[in-house]
Formats: sequence, C-alpha cells, structure tokens
Amino acid sequence: MAKLSIRGVRKSYGQVDILKGIDIELNDGEFLVLLGPSGCGKSTLLNIVAGLTDLSAGEVRIDERVVNDVHPKDRDIAMVFQSYALYPNMSVAKNMEFGLEMRGIARPAREAAVAKAARLLQIEHLLGRKPGELSGGQRQRVAIGRALVREPKVFLFDEPLSNLDAKLRIEMRTEIKKLHQRLGTTIVYVTHDQVEAMTLASRIAIMRNGLVQQLATPAEIYNRPANMYVAAFVGAPAMNFLRGRIAQQEGRLGVTAEVRSGGGGTPRFLPLHDPAPQIGQWVGRDIVLGIRPEAISIAGTVDSTFPATEIDAEIDVIEPTGADTLAYFTMGGTSAVARVRPQDVAAAGGTTRFALDLSRSCLFDPQTEARLN
Ligand code: ADP
Ligand code: MG
Repeated sequence: MAKLSIRGVRKSYGQVDILKGIDIELNDGEFLVLLGPSGCGKSTLLNIVAGLTDLSAGEVRIDERVVNDVHPKDRDIAMVFQSYALYPNMSVAKNMEFGLEMRGIARPAREAAVAKAARLLQIEHLLGRKPGELSGGQRQRVAIGRALVREPKVFLFDEPLSNLDAKLRIEMRTEIKKLHQRLGTTIVYVTHDQVEAMTLASRIAIMRNGLVQQLATPAEIYNRPANMYVAAFVGAPAMNFLRGRIAQQEGRLGVTAEVRSGGGGTPRFLPLHDPAPQIGQWVGRDIVLGIRPEAISIAGTVDSTFPATEIDAEIDVIEPTGADTLAYFTMGGTSAVARVRPQDVAAAGGTTRFALDLSRSCLFDPQTEARLN
C-alpha cells in the first residue's frame, strides 16, 4: 500500500498539450478511477505514473519519494493493460512467474508468490494450462495474476475489461473490487465506462482535454457534479437540462422556464426547494436547470416530502429496461427523459402528467457551465 501524489503534471508532444496540469493526491489503499472520453489523456497520465512516458513538467511521488527519474521496474508498481499479451508457449504458472524470474527472484519465492496469487484469483486449477486453452476472462485473470505476484505498492489498470463481453465484464469488475477489498492495495484504474467507474472507485477523477474536471467520491460526482460536463458524462440516461431564469415570486425563489412540449408559451414558475443562499444573487439571470431522470416520476405515483412541480407532456417513446422504464417526452422544446416504475407508465397514454422533484435538481451557469447550488 502506498500514497500517490501527482503534482502539476503536464505533458506535451511538440506543440500539442496533452496534459495541462494534473494534481491528484491519493491516500493509502484508495481506488482511483480516471474516467473520461477517448483521447482525454487517461493512458498518458497512467503511463507517466508507471514511468513508461516522461512528463514535461510536475512530479510524481510514491510514498513521498519523487519517482520522476526512477526506472519503471524500480517504482514498485504493476500494470495491467487492455491487451494483455500472455506468452502463448508458456503455462499459466510460467507466465505469472516469468517477471519475477527476470528480476532474479529465487525459485521457492517465485513459486510461493504464484501460488498465493492463483489462490486469490481462483485460477489454481489453470496453472498448468497454456493461454490458448483459456477463456477470455481466465486470460484476464492470469494477466492480473502476473501483476499481483509482484506485490506492488500501486496497481495500475488501463481499461483491463474493454476486450471482454458484457457479462464477463461485470463479473470481472466484481472480482477486481473483491481483490481490492482483500489486498487494500492502492489502485489507479483507467476506463471510459462510467458504470465501471461508479461501481469500483473510492474516488473518481473525471478528465476532459488533459484536465481534471472533478475529483470526488462517486456519490459526490453523481449528486453534486462540478459542472454540466460532469453532470452529463455520469448517469445513463444523462441528466436533463432545461434553460430558464431565476425569479422570485411571493418571496420564493424559483426558475421560470418554458416547460410545455412545443415551447413558445408563457414560462412557468417552478419553485426551488431550499435554494442555496447564492441563488438569490441570480434573480433575473439565465441559468440551466439540471434534473436527473429518476427525479421525474408520473404524477401521483411517488410520495415526496417536497411538493413536486407537475407538468403535462406527451410521451414520445417508452423504453422498458426491466427494473424500471424510461419515458421520453418533450419539455420546453427539448427532449427529456424520466425513469419511472414500469407499472406507472403502462397505464399512461397520450398526455401524461409528470412530477419534477426539484429538491434533487442542480443549477448551472450557462456561460461557465459551473454548478451554482
Ligand atoms: P486516452 O487514454 O484518454 O484515450 P491518451 O492518453 O491515450 O488518451 O491520449 C491522449 C492524447 O494524446 C490523444 O490525442 C493522443 O493522440 C495523444 N498522444 C498519445 N500518445 C502520443 C504520442 N506518443 N505522440 C503524440 N501524441 C500522442
Ligand atoms: Mg487509453
């Protein structure tokens, strides 16, 4: 287990800035997920931590020791990649042992390390097989085992599950989480899959264009996204955004917005629940109201402590997902989606009354896209 500090890390290739100043402090045993779209710099940052890529500025510390100039093999880290090339002619045991042999570790110690890792990963029965005789999931376990035998201070994973089919991905995700719970090793894990990030991370760093947009626990990221980018990136379907203006009516703060399907009517006043003090300064100014699909229900079906704002809309499409149903409708001329109980929407037809729970809404500055409340 180790602390990991990434301070002011920048990386440029020629004129192109890939990482534009990254600061992340990780505690012992944390599971950090770097989440962001393809090309935002996740692998570059991970490779810098691993020592496989030089940084242009800043420093990386492992347990307070600056490792900028430390060779990858002396950093006490181990990395698992998406394409985990196993040696096809070597047995599983040999594949796992090989790195240790290269480091001059004596045979008894190597064998003990392999046995321990195999037990943890439940691949003891596969030790004699060749990679060609394994399923994709088993091969990925071996690749993790190969990293595990080294008992590194920090584990780095770069999209390790991307090559697996959907069912196996979920199984391996759980395996990796269990492994982390048993070992307590500090992990940095790269993915573009938000569900993987939410389920695995102790904290998530959301990246965009070489910058961290927000570094926080999954719950904070989901409930208090720093900006519209984070709000839209995490959550499926994504948060609904409605343009409006902060107003005051009868001493209450609210949002006036056009909520009718076709748009173009008189804006409605939607009272806000317990608005943050700074919202008072926004009276008369444009904002974006963000509301997650699960904060919208079919009117009258869900008890809420805060009186919901009810709007009428025509449902455009219904998508049952099993546990709940997605109802798409048009609100103020833009598409919106509600996550509702299957039994509620089955009865709904034609114009439907939706209930918006604004106690669970976010307000954003349309210029900077930062969250205001
Ligand atoms: P991610 O892992 O988030 O998909 P990467 O870190 O692999 O993104 O890449 C970030 C950006 O850096 C991409 O635009 C990529 O083209 C660029 N890049 C990565 N490696 C190099 C390199 N060796 N030379 C030039 N550009 C690179
Ligand atoms: Mg990558």
